[in-house]
Amino acid sequence: MWRTLAIACGVMSCLATLHARSDAEPIVRAFAGTERFAIMRAIDGAVRRLADPDCQRVFNDFTDSEGHTLAEKLAALGKTPVEFFNDLYFTEDRVTSCCLRRGTLAFTAPGQRVIRVCQRFAAVSLVNARFGDATLIHEMLHALGLGENPPRSDEITRQVLARCS
Ligand SMILES: [Zn+2]
Repeated sequence: MWRTLAIACGVMSCLATLHARSDAEPIVRAFAGTERFAIMRAIDGAVRRLADPDCQRVFNDFTDSEGHTLAEKLAALGKTPVEFFNDLYFTEDRVTSCCLRRGTLAFTAPGQRVIRVCQRFAAVSLVNARFGDATLIHEMLHALGLGENPPRSDEITRQVLARCS
């Protein structure tokens, strides 16, 4: 009887933990070892930066294809930057042509909340944490509807770095 109860409790606390996680943090799929450590560290760093009002000014710096600022998009969704970030999904990617292209750390499509993180992200973000955090915020801007070319990828990241120190 005691044994059954212990197992039932174990399952329940597990479910409770999963539920709390999905509400409060982005969903992270795949990733193991160093890659997992790197993405979790960068998520923490990005959330910490996004909570800063100076960093949040970056949402007024860019617009979607219809000319709405990303700040307006957030307001329409009724989400703070951190809340929207916590709705993202990060999944490891080793095989697609985007990740095989030299220099790409992560990618998504405008309006798409699934962020694909390339294998080289771990090494780069562990050497330069600020750049790793900015890369995730850059992808968040795409998830909010920002396109690319224009603005150029390095211009987006440079603006995130300028706002989110
Ligand atoms: Zn981009």
